Amino acid sequence: TQAKYLHSGVEIYHGGQVERQEALQVETALAKALQRQEFQVYYQPLIDAHSGRAVKIEALLRWKNPTLGMRSPAEFIPILERSGGIVPVGQWVLNEACRAAATHPDLRVAVNLSARQFSQGDLPGTVRQALQASGLPPHRLDLEITESLMMQSPERAATVMGRLKETGARVILDDFGTGYSSLSYLARFPLDGLKIDRSFVNALSETSGQAIIRAIVQLGSTLGLEVVAEGVETPEQHALLKQLGVPLLQGYLFGRPQPQLPDTPG
Ligand code: C2E
Ligand code: CA
Ligand code: CA
Ligand code: CA
Repeated sequence: TQAKYLHSGVEIYHGGQVERQEALQVETALAKALQRQEFQVYYQPLIDAHSGRAVKIEALLRWKNPTLGMRSPAEFIPILERSGGIVPVGQWVLNEACRAAATHPDLRVAVNLSARQFSQGDLPGTVRQALQASGLPPHRLDLEITESLMMQSPERAATVMGRLKETGARVILDDFGTGYSSLSYLARFPLDGLKIDRSFVNALSETSGQAIIRAIVQLGSTLGLEVVAEGVETPEQHALLKQLGVPLLQGYLFGRPQPQLPDTPG
């Protein structure tokens, strides 16, 4: 049994070593990815529930490294947040997204923001510059933030948010309902909209799931907030969400993230 124990110990040791090496490889490659032009912005449509037309797009970051391949944002965004690399990368995404949206006559564009971008550098200045350089009308830019971003430093977040709104861009609370106090954030921060988290759309087959969405829609309309549902994958979900009065829908049913804008004229 001792030999077996030792053997398994060695296995575990090797496993950990390989994982650490891979993580280090990812980190090293990520630090050079922007300069090496390995990032790309993909766009996913947000659909008007009634007309079925794309009215907005969400910019989603993609990273493809020649040796490491395509990596998921769920893996590399947290690393960029830790290293601070998300500040220049986020600025690049903002510029790309505004430039792309400005080529279209009326599409709006949503860009995800990280806590680091709030706490470091001049985010409102960066936004203003991206708008000016692209010529995109400010009301066509949405900035998506999360509750965890606001929680880290609520006072700073409120100040930066106020200055962001002075640029004319709008601020949307993403993943609504997943944190612990989403409701209190709606009252405390100058938000323009909320995006109902995918987990609630998944629960639509249960009556309680429908009741939650109905309540969020009502809340949104009382507070004058734009309401979006994300993660719509089936025609049944589409029909229910439309019936529940959710005006904007996003999900694989309508289109996956892709490198081109939806129905670009010409
Ligand atoms: P998110 O902001 O909640 O973005 C929505 C995610 O859900 C995207 O994953 C999108 O591809 C995926 N999705 C869209 N429709 C469906 C659907 O019908 N079903 C399912 N299962 N998934 C769907 P993605 O692109 O992998 O991004 C993951 C997360 O990474 C984003 O979640 C966001 O938090 C972060 N992220 C992506 N791009 C950026 C960026 O430029 N900056 C920052 N700070 N974060 C980003
Ligand atoms: Ca988002
Ligand atoms: Ca989301
Ligand atoms: Ca999310």
